[in-house]
Amino acid sequence: MDLTDFVRDQMKTRPNQPSMPVLRPETIRQEIIALLSRESMTARELSGQVGVAEKEVLYHLEHIRLALRDALVLEPALCLACGFSLRKRERLKGPGRCPVCKSQHIAEPRFAITRL
Ligand SMILES: [Zn+2]
Repeated sequence: MDLTDFVRDQMKTRPNQPSMPVLRPETIRQEIIALLSRESMTARELSGQVGVAEKEVLYHLEHIRLALRDALVLEPALCLACGFSLRKRERLKGPGRCPVCKSQHIAEPRFAITRL
C-alpha cells in the first residue's frame, strides 16, 4: 500500500472502527505521516506539532503501524543513565524507568516513516 492509497483508505468512513473521542482522526493521521516522513519524532514532539494528547498520538501510531507495517520505524527508547536500549519493547510508548538501573532519564522512542 502506498501513501496515496493509505490516505484514501483513511478518508473512508469506518463505522466498525473502535470509537475514540478524537477530532478529525483522518487528518491527524495524515499530519503524523507527513511529519514522520520528513524527520523522526517522539510521541511527545508529535503531540506538540499535531495538537493532540500524547496518548492519542500513540493510538494513531498503532493504527499507522498496522497499516504501514515496517514502513513505520521505531527507534527504541534509550536509558540516558546506563545506556541500556529497550529494543525488545514492542509497545510504542517508552517505559517510565529503566529496567536495568531504574533511572527515569529515558530518551523516548522515536518514530519515522520510510519507503513510502
Ligand atoms: Zn538504565
